[in-house]
Amino acid sequence: MITQMINPVWVEVKCRMCGTVYTIAVEENDFYDWQNGKCIQDAMPYLTADERELLISHTCGDCWAEMFSCIGGD
Ligand SMILES: [Zn+2]
Repeated sequence: MITQMINPVWVEVKCRMCGTVYTIAVEENDFYDWQNGKCIQDAMPYLTADERELLISHTCGDCWAEMFSCIGGD
C-alpha cells in the first residue's frame, strides 16, 4: 500500500552495529506523534519492521538477523 505523504521528512539513522546510514521517509506529523509517546506502529504503520527497528533501537534489519542467528543455534 502506498500512502501519499503530505509533509514527508527524511530521517537519517545510523545503525549502531554496522554504521550504515539509512534514510527513512516519514510523515512529519507522524514522527512528532511518535516522539510524543505514540506507539511507532500506530504512528507510522507504513514503515517496514526493519525501518521501525532502526528508529527505535538504531539497529538495522541485517544486524538484527545476525544477532538472532547467534541465539539458540545448535
Ligand atoms: Zn546494521
